[in-house]
Amino acid sequence: MSDRTTHYCDYAATAPLRPEAREAALMAMALGGNPSSIHGAGRKARALVEDSRDAIATAVGASSREVIFTSGGTEACNLMLLGAVNAVASKSTRPPVVFMSALEHDAVAAAAEMAGMEVQTIPALASGMIDFAWLQTVLAGWDAEARGTPIVALMLANNETGVIQPVRAAADAAHAAGGVVAVDAVQALGKTQVHLGVLGADYIAVSGHKVGGPMGVGALIVRDDAPFAPRQFGGGQERGARSGTENVAGIAGFAAALKASNKELPALATLAAKRDELEGRLRQQGDAVVFGADAPRLPGITCFGREGFAASTQVMALDLAGVMVSAGAACSSGKVRSSKTLGAMGVDAALVGCAIRASFGWASTDEDFNAVADVWLTAANRIRPRALNAA
Ligand code: PLP
Repeated sequence: MSDRTTHYCDYAATAPLRPEAREAALMAMALGGNPSSIHGAGRKARALVEDSRDAIATAVGASSREVIFTSGGTEACNLMLLGAVNAVASKSTRPPVVFMSALEHDAVAAAAEMAGMEVQTIPALASGMIDFAWLQTVLAGWDAEARGTPIVALMLANNETGVIQPVRAAADAAHAAGGVVAVDAVQALGKTQVHLGVLGADYIAVSGHKVGGPMGVGALIVRDDAPFAPRQFGGGQERGARSGTENVAGIAGFAAALKASNKELPALATLAAKRDELEGRLRQQGDAVVFGADAPRLPGITCFGREGFAASTQVMALDLAGVMVSAGAACSSGKVRSSKTLGAMGVDAALVGCAIRASFGWASTDEDFNAVADVWLTAANRIRPRALNAA
């Protein structure tokens, strides 16, 4: 999506479609056929869906029957949370308790709210990581029979800062307390290892468009022995776990994109080095702040800002110069909202409204990184320091 005059630096919102994904999706669309039909065209579509399922399962260390295709990351996160809550609630006398990190994306947070169960918030630290000690202490004394099964919802990587969360440790603590762990890996997929066994997760939600696949397709991985209740009913597709005719073209494109992005995992250190170099340049502006920089992070994402330089003004200044980035968690309808993540990290409210996110990936060039630094530094240097403004 970048060319000689524009620089697309918003991969965390959506990554450009990979050529492999486009080709696979077009091929699937040309094929036609409903994968539930038993005639020849249907069987071909079914084969494509199942091959794609196998590829996605292999990429995340799951078995094919553990993969449920959805309409994207939001549906996967909703289904994960509500599917776990409803299944646990129907099997036990006490309702489950959801432990949700303060950093979760609304796809998880709003679903937890809708579930109507007790929700305990896992606080975040200034580093951008959750306060794991808090979770460990609460779960160590947890009596699941008396207080309800704990369902821990923890994202693998944050969508604003890219900070990677201690999912394995949280999963061990949840399991020791008789609970389960639900992981939103939408941002992490293709950018760090996402593996059911390594993470110790019971559920993993992923999305196609963040890895260069088509938008509107995702998957929920549900470990074989994890409690799960479906939420969408009809034709019984996805082994009854999610009714609805599969998005064959989307699924084929998603699988092709994930195969390509997983091949690039070893090369991501280069992307991280370019991101670090960019942050080094931004810091030449004395008041620039980079959020989450001291924690382990995804390689292609940076969240930064400068007090007194409103996020919307920064985004516009960059956009005028053809550089496309996001303000806050700009997942929804162009709204610029105050960042929930930075708020949870305890960042000063005046600075929260001045944070933007630039994110990079498979097609990013050195020119993209340089354009962010050049344009931002020029614009930021035009903003007078606070002390001068006050004078
Ligand atoms: N979870 C996280 C962490 C995200 O960043 C996003 C989207 O940005 C989602 C869930 C929702 O994914 P989708 O856009 O595929 O609905």
